[in-house]
Amino acid sequence: MNQLKGIAAASGISIGPAYKVGKEEFIIAKEPIREEDIPVQIQIFEEALIKTRREIIDLQKRISFEMGQEEAQIFDAHLLVLEDRMLIEEVISRLKKERLNVAFIFSEVLKKYVEIFLKIEDEYLKERIADINDVGKRILRHLLGKERKAFEDLKEKVVMVAHDLSPSDTAAMHKQNVCAFVTDVGGKTSHTAIMAKSLEIPAVVGTESATSRIKTGDMLIVDGSMGVIIINPDEETLNIYRKEEEKFKGVAERFLSAKDLPAVTLDGTTIKINANIEFPDEVPSVKLHGGEGIGLYRTEFFYMNRKDLPSEEEHYEAYKYVAEQMNPNPVIIRTLDLGGDKFLSQFEIPYEMEPFLGWRAIRFCLARPEIFKLQLRAILRASVHGNLKMMYPMISGIEELKQANKILEDAKEELRKKGLAFKEDIEVGAMIEVPSAALTADILATEADFFSIGTNDLIQYSLAVDRANEKVAYLYNPAHLAVLRLIKNIIDSAHKANIHVGMCGEMAGEASLVLLLLGLGLDEFSVPPQVIPEVKYLVRSVTLGQAKEIAAAAMLLSTGKEVEEFTQAKLREILK
Ligand code: PEP
Ligand code: MG
Repeated sequence: MNQLKGIAAASGISIGPAYKVGKEEFIIAKEPIREEDIPVQIQIFEEALIKTRREIIDLQKRISFEMGQEEAQIFDAHLLVLEDRMLIEEVISRLKKERLNVAFIFSEVLKKYVEIFLKIEDEYLKERIADINDVGKRILRHLLGKERKAFEDLKEKVVMVAHDLSPSDTAAMHKQNVCAFVTDVGGKTSHTAIMAKSLEIPAVVGTESATSRIKTGDMLIVDGSMGVIIINPDEETLNIYRKEEEKFKGVAERFLSAKDLPAVTLDGTTIKINANIEFPDEVPSVKLHGGEGIGLYRTEFFYMNRKDLPSEEEHYEAYKYVAEQMNPNPVIIRTLDLGGDKFLSQFEIPYEMEPFLGWRAIRFCLARPEIFKLQLRAILRASVHGNLKMMYPMISGIEELKQANKILEDAKEELRKKGLAFKEDIEVGAMIEVPSAALTADILATEADFFSIGTNDLIQYSLAVDRANEKVAYLYNPAHLAVLRLIKNIIDSAHKANIHVGMCGEMAGEASLVLLLLGLGLDEFSVPPQVIPEVKYLVRSVTLGQAKEIAAAAMLLSTGKEVEEFTQAKLREILK
C-alpha cells in the first residue's frame, strides 16, 4: 500500500481502478513532396483546420448543454488558436519553401510555438500551452487521418491518471466512466480543477509523480478533500474509505436539503449567503442553489477572449440583466481586476517580475481613468434596474479609495450632465485583500459603505505564498493565525464603524472554517453557487454563541494545523 499526496482540487472520495493516459505523441514521418503537390497539401491542411473547428464547436455545444456556458467558453481559446494567421501562414510558407509533407511542417511549427510560450515567465500564458497543444493534436490527428480515441469507450468507472489533462480531455470524461482524476501538475485554480468541480467528481492535482508511481489497473482511493491517493490499499483501508465515501454522499444530500431555507442560526441571527459569478449566464445556477444575492461579480472575464474592448453599452446591458434577474436581491459588481494571473490581451501590460505585486486591479484603473470611468458609468446606469452595489479590488490604503471615489464622482457628474438616471446613493465597498488594508480597516471604513474580504489574495500576500504556484501550495493556509488575526481586525473595524462585512474569497466556502468565521462576526458569505447549500446548512446548524466559542478557542491556538484539526473536530461534533 502506497500513498501519494497532492493538492486537493475537488472534494469527495472515489475508489476505482487507475486508467493511465499517456502523453499522446505522434510519430510523423518527414516526406519530401513535389512542387505540383503543394496545392493538395495546402488543401489537406485547410480541411484539417475546418474539421478541427467543427469538432471543437460540436464539443463546445455539448459541454454548454451538459455543463453550462462557462465551461464551454474555455474552448473559445482553442478556436482562437485555429484562427491564428501567423501560425497558418508560417505553415504554408514553409510548406512552399521546404517542400515537405504538411503534417511534418505543422508539427515543427507547433513545437516552435510551444517552445516560445514555455520561455515566457507568465503563468497565464504558460497555461495557454495546454490550449495550443490540445488544438495542435486535434489538427495533427486530422492531418494523419487518425480518429480520436474517446474516453467514452471505457466500460467501467475508472480513476483517470495523467501528467496533465487538457480542458477538452477533462470535458470528455463523462460522469459514467470517470469517478475521479489525478494529475502530476496543476494547481487548485487550473482548468482541470474547475472542470472537476463542475463534474462533481473528486480530483487531486500537482502530485508531481502520479504517472510514474501508478500503473493502469492499480486500485486507487482518491480523497479529493484531503488531496491524498492511496495505491493498492489493503482490505481494511478500503473498508474505511468505502464508509467515508458513503458518508460524504450522505452529507452532500443533507446539505442540498437546506438550499431553499433561510440562512438563520439556531438562535435567530440571519446571515447572508451570496454567490460568486464570472458571467451573467450563471444567474440561473445561483437561483437553483438558493443564492440570496451576488456577493462578487468578477467583471474582468468580460474583457477576455476577445480582440476589442467592451463598450459602455455592453457593460450596461450585462449589469442591467444581472440586476434585473436578481432584483430585489443585491448584486455586488467588482470593478475591473486585471493583472496578477489574469491577463487581458487588449491592454499592453508590460512584463513584470512579480505580477501579483505589480500593476494590477485598482492600480491599473487609477492609471487609466478613462477605461475605469467607462465601466463606472455603466454600473451607475444599470443601478436603477435593481439592487446594485459596487466594490474596488486590491485597495491598499485610504488614498486609493479616495481617488477611486473621486473618479466615481466624475462619472456621476458626466451622467447628470447627460440627464441619464442612476442611483445617487449606490453603495460602494472596498475589497480587503491586502494586509495593509486589513490593518488600516478602521481608516478605510470612513470611506467605504461595506467591506468584502478577498482571502484568495489576502492569504497570498500575508503569508508570502504565490497562490498559483503548486511548489509552495503547502504554505497556503487560510487557517494560519496571521490570516485569522487580520480577518478579525477587519470584521471588528467594520462593526465599530457600523458597516457590513462579507467574504468572497474561497475561504468562505471551506466547511471547517465557516463556523469560525461566523463566530468572528462575518455578516455575509459569498461562495461559488454549488457551495451555497453547504454553507447554509452549516449556518443553520449552530447558535451564534456556539460559533463564537469555536472562534474564541481557535484564536488561542498557535498553528494553522491546530486550527484545522480543532475546527474539523467541532464540525464533526455539530453535524453528527
Ligand atoms: C480574492 O482575492 O479573494 C478574490 C475574491 O478575488 P480574486 O480571486 O478574483 O482575486
Ligand atoms: Mg483578489
